[in-house]
Amino acid sequence: MLNIVLFGPPGAGKGTQSQSLISKYGLVHLSTGDLLRTEIARGTELGVKAKEIMDRGILVSDDIVISMIENKLDANPSANGFIFDGFPRTKAQAEALDDLLQKKGTAISCMLALEVDEKELTRRLLERGKESGRADDRDEATIKNRINEYNNKTLPLKEYYSAEGKFHSINGIGSVSDIFNVIQNRLVFIEAEIELTQLENDLEHLDLTVNDFEQVNEVSSELKRDIEELQHAENSSPKPEKKAEGSKQKAMSSKKKAVSSKKKAVSSKQKAVGSKQKAVGSKKKAVSSKKKAVSSKKKAVSSKKKVKAKPAKKKAAPKKKAKGTKKTKKKVVKKVVKKKTAQKKNNKKAGKKKK
Ligand code: AMP
Repeated sequence: MLNIVLFGPPGAGKGTQSQSLISKYGLVHLSTGDLLRTEIARGTELGVKAKEIMDRGILVSDDIVISMIENKLDANPSANGFIFDGFPRTKAQAEALDDLLQKKGTAISCMLALEVDEKELTRRLLERGKESGRADDRDEATIKNRINEYNNKTLPLKEYYSAEGKFHSINGIGSVSDIFNVIQNRLVFIEAEIELTQLENDLEHLDLTVNDFEQVNEVSSELKRDIEELQHAENSSPKPEKKAEGSKQKAMSSKKKAVSSKKKAVSSKQKAVGSKQKAVGSKKKAVSSKKKAVSSKKKAVSSKKKVKAKPAKKKAAPKKKAKGTKKTKKKVVKKVVKKKTAQKKNNKKAGKKKK
């Protein structure tokens, strides 16, 4: 998804450039100013409240515009992307937008800031006011308020998006088509960068997958060690297993070179991803054969245990034999005692005879 924040003071040409972007990239246009004016035209309660604020040239509350944007995002679930025009205008709005997009599994791709000086802005707005009839475009004091609101509350967003590497300054003075050409060229660069970041993330994910397999390998070798210990304990001989323009044109042409080298970098990253995938595949095979080896070892150990259990019975047998020996010993003792008593009797008889 291509999600563009079109940034700039009132009169910078955000609405005009939005139209060209919509037709070229098929994006959904979300302008909070337009949405508020629709509410005013419908005469809704929100519209009545908003009109009073808008006519003074100050910002309506964050809550109102955030919920309007949320509804529009929900109403366009299969959009190719969005152009946010006149939104966000405060840090709170920018943070809310990040959260809303994150919930939808996407993010802001870039902020394109149309830079126009205050004198030119005022001239354009007064000119537009003659045609559009917009109250906030006709009064110079209101225009001043709007520009002040922009400088105080909205301009800090430049830092917000710069910190994320998403801020792109565009010269907003010139013909509509020239400015759009600059925007298009910039978007080629931005899209290549996004692709690169995604690939880097994929690579990180693949690294994680390889780590997972390494962990499985570790567990497998632990199991193997356990089995070997068992075998050793059973006095078997364990066999250890094997492990496995003028200056503008120059600037533009150097940007294009940068983009083309980025693309090369992207393609080499893709190759790297491909070889990582192969590595992951062979790791998987290695793990599965390790698992088989472990399971056959387990079987071997369990059958050895059975074999070991039998001699235990045999050992028990001699006990029975011992009992049997005791009996025979008793018999023998009885016999000896009988013999001795018989001898004693005979001796007595012989003694009597002698007497
Ligand atoms: P615009 O058409 O973008 O110049 O907006 C016209 C007026 O609508 C502004 O001066 C504000 O009063 C109000 N407005 C539009 N967008 C916002 C916004 N994101 N946050 C607060 N107020 C807004």
